[in-house]
Amino acid sequence: MSQRLRVAVEAPQHSGLSAPLDYLSEQPIAPGSLVRVPLGRRELAGIVWPGPSEEGAAALDEAQLRPVLAVLDALPPLSKRWCELVEFAASYYQRSIGEVALSVLPPQLRELSPEQLQARLKKLDKKPKKLQAEASPEPAPRPEPPTLSPDQALVLARLDELLLTPGDTAPPPVLLYGVTGSGKTEVYLRAAEHALSQGRQVLVLVPEINLTPQLEARFAERFAGTPMVSLHSALTPAQRLGNWLQAHLGRARLVLGTRLAVFASLPELGLIAVDEEHDPSYKQQDGARYSARDLAVYRARLEKVPVILGSATPSLESWQHANTGRYLRLALPGRIGGGALPRVRLFDMNTLPRRKGVSTALSPPLLAALRQRLEAGEQSLVFLNRRGYAPVLHCAECGWKSECPHCSAYRVFHKADRTLRCHHCGFSQRVPHECPDCGNQDVAPLGRGTEQLEEQLAAALPGARVARIDADTTRLKGTLESQLQAVHEGEVDILVGTQMVTKGHDFRRITLVAAINPDSALFSSDFRAPERLFALLMQAAGRAGRDAEQAARSEMWVQTWHPEHALYRALLQHDFEAFARSQLAERESAGLPPYSHLALLRAEARTAEAAQAFLSAAARWAQALPEARDLMIYPPVPMSVARVANMERLQMLVESPTRGALQRLLWLWMPELHALKREHRGLQRWAVDVDPLAI
Ligand code: ADP
Ligand code: ZN
Ligand code: ZN
Repeated sequence: MSQRLRVAVEAPQHSGLSAPLDYLSEQPIAPGSLVRVPLGRRELAGIVWPGPSEEGAAALDEAQLRPVLAVLDALPPLSKRWCELVEFAASYYQRSIGEVALSVLPPQLRELSPEQLQARLKKLDKKPKKLQAEASPEPAPRPEPPTLSPDQALVLARLDELLLTPGDTAPPPVLLYGVTGSGKTEVYLRAAEHALSQGRQVLVLVPEINLTPQLEARFAERFAGTPMVSLHSALTPAQRLGNWLQAHLGRARLVLGTRLAVFASLPELGLIAVDEEHDPSYKQQDGARYSARDLAVYRARLEKVPVILGSATPSLESWQHANTGRYLRLALPGRIGGGALPRVRLFDMNTLPRRKGVSTALSPPLLAALRQRLEAGEQSLVFLNRRGYAPVLHCAECGWKSECPHCSAYRVFHKADRTLRCHHCGFSQRVPHECPDCGNQDVAPLGRGTEQLEEQLAAALPGARVARIDADTTRLKGTLESQLQAVHEGEVDILVGTQMVTKGHDFRRITLVAAINPDSALFSSDFRAPERLFALLMQAAGRAGRDAEQAARSEMWVQTWHPEHALYRALLQHDFEAFARSQLAERESAGLPPYSHLALLRAEARTAEAAQAFLSAAARWAQALPEARDLMIYPPVPMSVARVANMERLQMLVESPTRGALQRLLWLWMPELHALKREHRGLQRWAVDVDPLAI
């Protein structure tokens, strides 16, 4: 007798299929098993999904159902809870279960036949010994873990008592709040030790790939001999499959990774830690636009395990959850060893004499401070959030500017290779010798980027060893590591970069950090811009004076035209709490998150009219529903860069007082949107972004 099974397959999004499909099998197959199934003329990987068929599908005659082609039974099935996590993510972010389930598996796993998988697993069997041998030729003498500071001891005692004793109910998520250097990582290490000693697996999430090796090194040192793997997008497909399998088979006890690792299969999961929980990199920006931080919290509840969210500048969402008691806030109020945070100096750019035509990136007092560090043999870090030499090239004769022909943006002047490059679509050309419109020979850069800053610093401070780190200098694999190494080894006096250099790196010799011109975020139309700026500046400040003895003379300079701004006033005091209070008050009065819940409907088409027509039709349909009564559907507007690669991009904001009401509307809306897409031929793409980070 053949049986009816549900199988999640990666159905194309435009099909609008959201539920797993029905197939037949001669033998029972355990839910969570990987199978190969036919779909149309193709053969695809699928996952046997737990639970009964949808009612509609059940009506399908068995004779119409197709059989499962093969079962990859060498692999233990994915757990029921893993399937639940995927099902939640699919439903919450409005994607199909199959799309989410398959897209979070290692790509190679989807290609393997049962025989290939068996061979791969055999190869893996030989691996653990090698892993062990590499980690500890003979169990290397482990460094003694440091004695906990009184604050850490308090935090861990609270964690122990509340969380680390397995119970029947899910422990509340913990918000571990403490500045850079306050010992948060040590808390993750101790909590991990506890979970590992109970025979559980530990998942640690970090925002950026660049940060995994550093954290990995600390965990590897502490847990020498404990199998550990990393999961992130820079691994080769073979590495990613290997590491994923180690975790799935329970051999890897520690998994460290970026946002995609939140979906790692961890049959014995006992703890999740999310470092820098506020970081925007946790939000996936295409496909299923999930927040790995939010899914980590959901997963922890599902699995009834503790989750620790760590940050010096928590997201206002998490901060608010802690205020209302949904999350448990545990604070580490000071730096380890009593090191002070660097003194913040706001330099008022209005005090500089203005000379026509001369713009100063570096004020004389900042230059003097940099010179002082140089003479003392100390390092400085200078950052500016704009790469390239100048954001625009300009002809003073006729007003020509280096617009991108394909985007509503300027092409950036890169001096090193003399190109004009569009940072949105990648379109790149040699810099013209003369103005393309009027022939003027004197086209000049307007504004400045990191490349120019590097040049100006080298000119102003002869003899200084200036190095630049940004997306342009780190394009090749391994270059970032070697550049960071040079900084650590003291081969660099002044490090110039984009915000990339402000994240996480533990630079010991930096005593001066300078933000060149961060003001634009104060007046951005994006309501989260101040929150991000504050986090960035606090994080940058954390780069200086990590060495307690240097901390006393460490400084963070901010060159600003608005030194009286409340954000900077809070920064002067390193006062995140005051900043959060004022931001939350503003958000509350404006009805913005966390006091409301948002979704964006985005549309792209060759013409703005086509995108607009789709969004307007969608809005009309939704507004007629009783479920939309308490929601606000705003008129469609162009995105901040309206045209990219010749596509006009519009978005429409939906605002809801509750998460539930928003979800109910989206559920009703999705089938209609799929149908509307078929009617609106001019529409290229559409997408829904639930809890968007930038609006
Ligand atoms: P954070 O993660 O908050 O930036 P870390 O855990 O990295 O803080 O701690 C900052 C520095 O202090 C690290 O070099 C770490 O090794 C050290 N450290 C942490 N806890 C202790 C402790 N209890 N005693 C001594 N040193 C510690
Ligand atoms: Zn011209
Ligand atoms: Zn472009």
